[in-house]
Amino acid sequence: MNARLNIPYGRQTISDEDIAAVVDVLRSDWLTQGPAVPSFEQAVASYCGASHAVAVNSATSALHIACLALGVGPGDSVWTSPITFVATANCARYCGADVDFVDVEPDTANLCATRLAEKLERARQAGRLPKVVIPVHFAGLPCDMQAIHALSREYGFRIIEDASHAIGARYHGEPTGNCRYSDITVFSFHPVKIITSGEGGMALTNDPALAARMELLRSHGVTRDPGLMESKPHGPWYYEQIELGFNYRMTDIHAALGVSQMRHLDDFILHRDEVAARYHRLLKFLPLLRPASRPDRSSAHHLYVIRMPDALAGERHSQLFDGLRHRGIGVNLHYIPVYRQPYYQRLGFDAKDFPQSERHYAVSISLPMYAGLSALQQDQVVNALHEELGS
Ligand SMILES: *Cc1c(COP(=O)(O)O)cnc(C)c1O
Repeated sequence: MNARLNIPYGRQTISDEDIAAVVDVLRSDWLTQGPAVPSFEQAVASYCGASHAVAVNSATSALHIACLALGVGPGDSVWTSPITFVATANCARYCGADVDFVDVEPDTANLCATRLAEKLERARQAGRLPKVVIPVHFAGLPCDMQAIHALSREYGFRIIEDASHAIGARYHGEPTGNCRYSDITVFSFHPVKIITSGEGGMALTNDPALAARMELLRSHGVTRDPGLMESKPHGPWYYEQIELGFNYRMTDIHAALGVSQMRHLDDFILHRDEVAARYHRLLKFLPLLRPASRPDRSSAHHLYVIRMPDALAGERHSQLFDGLRHRGIGVNLHYIPVYRQPYYQRLGFDAKDFPQSERHYAVSISLPMYAGLSALQQDQVVNALHEELGS
């Protein structure tokens, strides 16, 4: 029996500069609401080419205030992909809206623009069009944004890109996050994502009104801008709560880590590209399907998801999972389709409506993928796959 490995599916890469940046904040006057948050917002906005960025304490919070800023409320419908983390759907439920799902493309597991078009046509006839659609750039590969954007024009919905996997990805040569084909783009800085701030998220937009609304909502709905107040300021202490907002603020401690991580972003993406290219070569002779790509876009490679051939779905899928985990290889499954969660089951979804999502769930495995993954570790993963698959 080989020695047990210890290779997670994803993990952060933290440098001495990252640590020094956080320590600097701890020694400074501001632990929160200081200069690091606007610096982080500026760094991400300028990297992505968006005019505004609003940093918050998680991507979940960013999705919530993005929905609210777009006016999502009771009676509205928000559509997303079932192959995502539950937060992408939950944000609509927080606003009292209904959620529905659009099945995915069989090879990329991204929201399928063709299925979306069909579902929109049926929804138009039923008089129940969505207010917002949230495409998820699964594993870091951008969705077919041009097609989804064209549909938004035709059917009058707004778009939030859930780019939690995709900072550093490119679509038609331009960075994800520039919001060319969406109203708002959301990033996550959870430690397994491409860059981290510990916990954290950000909402990018080119619309100053949406940015202002999200800034208000992240901090209690409170303003110090006399232009937005209902009364004349009573004095220099005066502020007004003009909306029901939240405390979704990011701290300067988190933001300083984020700023420092942004300096490594291009290196992280390069390394992830290399890991993906190497898996692609090494897995060629195994009875597995490797992740699909598209010629007009590049992935940030948040995840490296292989699929077993349909014939090996079911028990073999679960066995391979067990075998790899047993060896200390932290494989994972992204994702259990959201409609399968008991909370969503109670809302009445039928798995038969989402055959490609079901298939994805039956055959997918996320292999270890992160910027610090070494060639040796990768070889160990590939060798384990060979042994488990008996090839
Ligand atoms: C991680 C993730 C989120 C939630 O991000 P948090 O920052 O942990 O709130 C939302 N959507 C997707 C697709 C994710 O991967």
